[in-house]
Amino acid sequence: MSISQAKDEAEILHNLKLLELEAAPLEPNANERSCITKAFVAYSEEFLENIETAKAFDANVSASVKIESSCISETGGQLEDLLQELYESVINPGLNPASGGHLGFIPGGGIYSAAWGDYVAAVANSYAGMRLAGPGAVALEHKLIHWMGSLFWTEGHIGGTLCSGGSIANLVAVCTARDATSLKLNEYHRLVIYLSHQTHHCVQKALRIAGLSDINYRYIPTDDFDRMRVDSLEQQILWDLSQGLCPWLVVASAGTTDTGAVDQLKEIGHLARKHKIWYHVDAAYGGFFKLLPEMQILFEGIEMADSIVVDPHKGLFLPYGLGAVLVKDVTLLYKSHYYKAHYLQDAYLNNDAWSPADLSPELTRHFRALRMWIPLKLHGLAPFKSALREKILLARYASFQLQKIPEIELRLEPQLSVVCFRVRSVFGDEKNLHLAEYFRSDGRIFISSTQIEGLTYLRFAILCFRTHLDKIEIALSIVKDFCNKLTNS
Ligand SMILES: *Cc1c(COP(=O)(O)O)cnc(C)c1O
Repeated sequence: MSISQAKDEAEILHNLKLLELEAAPLEPNANERSCITKAFVAYSEEFLENIETAKAFDANVSASVKIESSCISETGGQLEDLLQELYESVINPGLNPASGGHLGFIPGGGIYSAAWGDYVAAVANSYAGMRLAGPGAVALEHKLIHWMGSLFWTEGHIGGTLCSGGSIANLVAVCTARDATSLKLNEYHRLVIYLSHQTHHCVQKALRIAGLSDINYRYIPTDDFDRMRVDSLEQQILWDLSQGLCPWLVVASAGTTDTGAVDQLKEIGHLARKHKIWYHVDAAYGGFFKLLPEMQILFEGIEMADSIVVDPHKGLFLPYGLGAVLVKDVTLLYKSHYYKAHYLQDAYLNNDAWSPADLSPELTRHFRALRMWIPLKLHGLAPFKSALREKILLARYASFQLQKIPEIELRLEPQLSVVCFRVRSVFGDEKNLHLAEYFRSDGRIFISSTQIEGLTYLRFAILCFRTHLDKIEIALSIVKDFCNKLTNS
């Protein structure tokens, strides 16, 4: 029905009734809700019941193309058909990130209780952007930010924001660091950023988005442990100062993506402090290993950071869509991200009660704190710590076993839970890509390759909460199998 037909009051009232009826499917009744819930829960249960034996990678991606031709029509369809389509064309093809066999990139999580956080957040549709609208949702986010902040800092006017992931969190940090300088736009060409070739690419991407592509990039060489060389960093800073440039931002990694290397956070921190450089630590991968007392030593000095990025959808095993930027002085984050608008005037209660909308590029946003709060409250920290310890031990075990395979060389002992290795050069660098492909065609385990200093490397990135010893044994057996064929061919 079109609203142009409604001319007088009676007609409007009549049409309103009709429209309400027509829109009724958007508000299913209790019985209908129960049917929908049962179907989706049954579907998820089947997925979880089979997860142990499910492939980590399904190379047949043809089904995913079908979804593009599946039309959105005026009348809805059957839930069963929808679920079938979802499974075949969407969930199944390609990587299965929920599988414990996912050892590629940096694995994410997907713990079950977190899903109910999203469920409640969506049903209640709580407003997590402004304190006035969602004081509880905002307080909950605040609490989580401060809990994470207290992992790294014991003092400071700490604040931060929950983002969709580490890339956006790094972008927010870069913008905050940019706006914390006293430099004007026409002086930006004097800015210098210090990073290494092991810095995650999202930092360069963030700089470009932030309008800082043309500043001076200094890629500091790395040492034998893939860490930024502190002596080279200092020399470079001094040289830049002598040239009248403005050393602005140093980005250290607490767990690089390629090899899991943790930069010398304390030494870099001292240099940053001495020369008044914004100190950013990208701990998107490694940050939550700080929960383990025995790993503290690796993180010494992180408290000198001005900003830190962590990714709860990695190290806390939460579903994709949760990163966090933490800033030691929240007023700087505010300065860079607040906005005042007339239509939001009711929201400005007092200046000390920060609203997430003033600390992030977002206004209306997903109530993502709930999917983190529910698992932490329900399970407590102990199982998270045990799972993190297990990942570190699995990496050590895998590195021991890989060193026993004559065709394989290890890049270095794992510092965290990434094991970086390669088929020895005598067999040809391309054999590493073949091995990655061998894994993909087998499907039980997924690994990804990388390039370091011109050589191809393979990685076991062990961070999925479902990765246990059995999966690592399978991964090792696939490597051995490949190497046997290599030597016997
Ligand atoms: C994963 C990762 C990122 C990017 O985070 P996303 O959540 O994938 O956007 C940034 N830095 C490091 C070190 C990472 O491991």
